[in-house]
Amino acid sequence: MSYSRTRAPAYSRGRVDRPTCARYDRGVAEIIDGKAVAASVREEVRAEAAAFRERVGRPPGLATVLVGDDPASATYVRSKRKTCAEVGIASIAHELSAETGQDELLALVEALNARADADGILVQLPLPPQINASVILDAIDPVKDVDGLHPMNQARLVAGQAGLRPCTPLGVMRLLDTTGVELRGARAVVVGRSNLVGKPAVFLLLERHATVTVCHSRTRDLAAEVGGADVLIAAIGKAQLIRGDWIKPGAVVIDVGTNRNAAGKLVGDVEFERARERAAFITPVPGGVGPMTIAMLLKNTVAAAEARAVGRAVAAGAGR
Ligand code: NAP
Repeated sequence: MSYSRTRAPAYSRGRVDRPTCARYDRGVAEIIDGKAVAASVREEVRAEAAAFRERVGRPPGLATVLVGDDPASATYVRSKRKTCAEVGIASIAHELSAETGQDELLALVEALNARADADGILVQLPLPPQINASVILDAIDPVKDVDGLHPMNQARLVAGQAGLRPCTPLGVMRLLDTTGVELRGARAVVVGRSNLVGKPAVFLLLERHATVTVCHSRTRDLAAEVGGADVLIAAIGKAQLIRGDWIKPGAVVIDVGTNRNAAGKLVGDVEFERARERAAFITPVPGGVGPMTIAMLLKNTVAAAEARAVGRAVAAGAGR
């Protein structure tokens, strides 16, 4: 596919808010402003949460479980709780000591599975070494699995069935939608194959009829694969590994990576400044994908609440 806007941007079709991309000089990419898109998602969630509360008689509820005292995890969890409060989602907070045993944590997950006012359950990773994270994640009721990491939800995604999808790749799709670029038939390249980001991004792009290539650490000629991408999703975790001059002119570049460079600065997986001279749209790091993850977690929580209220699976695409 040669780059073209084959249809009106999503915002002009009323699907999403107008993107806050700034148009720079000709030949320089529009910046996709993840902070602004995330703010518009939070506004949507606020309205949806209020409507749910009105109809069901209680707000949607998200249970968050923090085990231990890892400072980064504590910051993430508190930020999730604060954002819940801002949009009208009730927070059910559990903080357990670093010495918590696996059985104790399993018992808490079971109790939250049974709690009627907990629509979503989020166990913050990483967990202390005495706890097997996959045992815990597998114990979460799939209808409350707002991180979309339960094997049942991952299988449903692969099978093209309704289910909760992982938040970061959902955020990636939402950012792509703000560009108005046609995904159907586009050549999409995903670099990274983790269960958290790369693999779900592949299947979400397939759902939208992109022609998808997935690359990883054993890919022979990464530059050539990247050079063929109309849509590039970089989810590697290596500072600026993807060189700007690999980017296909007119491509859409979504950079999921968060890395510190040698100077200690937060950078993505893509060489931003040089990529920006070739791409049509690009996300910055920070301020691109990062803010979308919590926003999509809130969206998933409302989708889970709605689905539980009517006793059905989360509708496909509900998080978008
Ligand atoms: P991960 O589990 O470490 O996976 C990294 C992937 O990159 C793997 O599939 C790996 O290939 C591939 N890879 C590594 N070196 C490569 C190379 N030289 N060439 C090509 N592929 C290579 O990481 P992740 O959890 O997916 O996260 C990826 C990045 O996204 C990290 O920087 C992370 O911090 C960031 N992230 C950001 C958010 C956010 O909200 N902004 C959320 C999640 C993750 P193999 O499979 O062959 O090893």
